Amino acid sequence: MTDLQDLYQELILDHGSRPRNLKKLAEANHSAEGYNPLCGDKVKVYVNLDGEVVKDISFEGAGCAISTASASIMTETLKGKTRAEADALFEMFHDLVTGQQRKLDSPELGKLAVFSGVSEFPMRVKCATLSWHTLRAAIKGKEEVVSTE
Ligand code: ZN
Repeated sequence: MTDLQDLYQELILDHGSRPRNLKKLAEANHSAEGYNPLCGDKVKVYVNLDGEVVKDISFEGAGCAISTASASIMTETLKGKTRAEADALFEMFHDLVTGQQRKLDSPELGKLAVFSGVSEFPMRVKCATLSWHTLRAAIKGKEEVVSTE
């Protein structure tokens, strides 16, 4: 278990310091901003939704390592997925970081499993879920700023 935790920590540090898909998406047809006042994390998520499919996704923002890594891994995970798949992954991820999902080897979860340790730090749950809540708002087409509070 310790090796696995080390691996998870490494992945979070890697994505937190070198986030993927950190850019403005020129072709985005959906976007939303999110803010976590508890930690000061800010994120803007851009989505290019082609019918039901997430054709491309990116984010901009500044936050702690957990929120940045979560947004980075989220964008990697959701590219090419349908809205329904994205919704299902959101539910799984939410259960994972709130300690309700213990099946870490679920193939759908993939890299998202690295956030399992977050469930032991309730203050960090909002850091990990901020980009997901923001994505959901973007897909729904809401323009207001999402706050985790
Ligand atoms: Zn944070």
